[in-house]
Amino acid sequence: MSLIIHDGQCCGLIAYELATGKLHTLQSKAVLLATGGYGKVFKTTSNAFASTGDGLAIAYRAGAPLEDMEFVQFHPTGIYKLGILISEAARGEGGILRNNEGERFMERYAPVIKDLAPRDMVSRCILEEIRAGRGIEGKDYVHLDLTHLGKEVLDTKLAEITGFARTYAGVEPVKEAIPVQPTCHYMMGGIATDVDGRVITDSEGTVFKGLYAAGECACVSVHGANRLGCNSLLDILVFGRRAGKEMGRFIPTVGSIELPSSPEKVVADQISALMQSKGKESTGPIRAEMQEVMMDKVSVFRHKEGLEEALEKVRELKERYRQISVQDKGNCFNRELLDAIELGYMLDLAEVITLGALSREESRGAHSREDFPNRDDEKWLVHTMFRHSTDEGPQLFFKPVTITRFEPKERKY
Ligand SMILES: Cc1cc2nc3c(=O)[nH]c(=O)nc-3n(C[C@H](O)[C@H](O)[C@H](O)COP(=O)(O)OP(=O)(O)OC[C@H]3O[C@@H](n4cnc5c(N)ncnc54)[C@H](O)[C@@H]3O)c2cc1C
Repeated sequence: MSLIIHDGQCCGLIAYELATGKLHTLQSKAVLLATGGYGKVFKTTSNAFASTGDGLAIAYRAGAPLEDMEFVQFHPTGIYKLGILISEAARGEGGILRNNEGERFMERYAPVIKDLAPRDMVSRCILEEIRAGRGIEGKDYVHLDLTHLGKEVLDTKLAEITGFARTYAGVEPVKEAIPVQPTCHYMMGGIATDVDGRVITDSEGTVFKGLYAAGECACVSVHGANRLGCNSLLDILVFGRRAGKEMGRFIPTVGSIELPSSPEKVVADQISALMQSKGKESTGPIRAEMQEVMMDKVSVFRHKEGLEEALEKVRELKERYRQISVQDKGNCFNRELLDAIELGYMLDLAEVITLGALSREESRGAHSREDFPNRDDEKWLVHTMFRHSTDEGPQLFFKPVTITRFEPKERKY
C-alpha cells in the first residue's frame, strides 16, 4: 500500500489487510518489492488479475524512478478476445499462423524462421494482416493452425494449450484452428535497480537505501527492449537471489531506525477519502476506458498523434478518478475498495508508459513507432527514467546504457 520513508531511507511499509480492512505498520531495515507486472493496464492481456503494477506505483510515489516503461511486450498468440496465452510451444511443435485466405503469412515477413520469429515481430505481422483486411472474417484475429500435428501430439505434448483452446475458445484443435491475436504479456520496464536488486534514484546509480526490487516489477534491464521467451524466470532466480544476498549484507550495517510519527496516516487518509467520497464516478468504467485506449494507441504499433490522444485520455481519466466513490463501506474483503486503489496505481503507470513511448522517437525491440520506424542508436541508446512529482507530473530524465562484451546489432531474419 505504501512504503515508509524516513531520512531518504526505506524503513518499512504499511499493509492493508483485505480480510479485515486493518492497516498494519511493518517496520524493517530493508524492503524488497516482488509484486510482478502490470498487464492489466491493457485491455487484452495474458497476465493475472493481480498484475496491476502495485509495487511499481508504490515505489514511484515514494520517489523511486521507473525505467524503460515504454518497452511492453505483446505476445502474438493470445486467445481472441480473452488474451489467454497459447505459448510458443504450439509454434515450436510446428503450429502455423494463417490469415483469412489460409495463407501461411509469416513466410512473407520472415522467410527463414517464419512462425518462429520473435514475439514483437510476429505481433506486428498479425496486425499488418488484419489491417490489410486479411483477418479471419474481416475481424481482428488470425488462425493458429495445429490440425496437421495430429491428436496424439496435441494431447500429449501440447495438452495444456489444447485444453485452453477447448475450454476458453470453444474450438477442437485437432480439427479447427485457434483464433488468436496479440496480448499484453510482459513488461521490460520497471523500478530501476542495479544488478544487486538495489533500487537506484538517478542516472549515476545512487542507491535508495533500504529499498530493493526483483522480478517483473524491477528493471535491471537484462531484457533490453524485448525479452526472449523463458528468460523471465531466469531473471527472477538470478536477481532475486542477488538481491537477497545484498540485503543480507546491508541489514547488519543499519542501526535502529526511528519511524516517523503516524506512518500509516497517508494510507488511512487515502482510504477514508475513497470510502467517504460522494463523487459520481466508479472504478469499472474508468478502468475499461483506460484499458481500451492503452490497447488502441499504446500497444503493438504507436505513433505521435495516437500517443498524444492516449495521454490526454489518461490524464482526463486521472481527473475523473478524483471523483471516484466506493459503495461498499464494509471492512471484510472489500474488493471494490481494492479495485479503486489499484486503478489509481494503473493510471499512474499508464501515464508513464505513454510518456515514455511518446518521448522515444525511434523503434527498438517491442517499441514500434510508425512515424520513426528505424532504430536510432546515436540518439536513443539510453534508458528513459521517470520520477514522480505531485505538482509537475512525471519528470523525464535519461540513464546511459552500459555496454560490456556485446555491441548492439541490427536484427535480421
Ligand atoms: C501466461 C504466462 C506464461 C508465462 N510463461 C513464462 C515462461 O514459460 N518462462 C518465463 O521465463 N516466463 C514466463 N512468463 C513470465 C513470468 O511468468 C513472469 O514474468 C513472472 O512470473 C513474474 O514473476 P514475479 O515473481 O516477478 O511476479 P508474479 O509471479 O506476478 O508475482 C507477484 C506476486 O505479488 C503479488 N502482489 C501484487 N501486488 C501486491 C500487493 N499490493 N500486495 C501484496 N501482494 C501483491 C501477486 O498477487 C503475486 O502473487 C509467463 C507469463 C505469463 C502471464
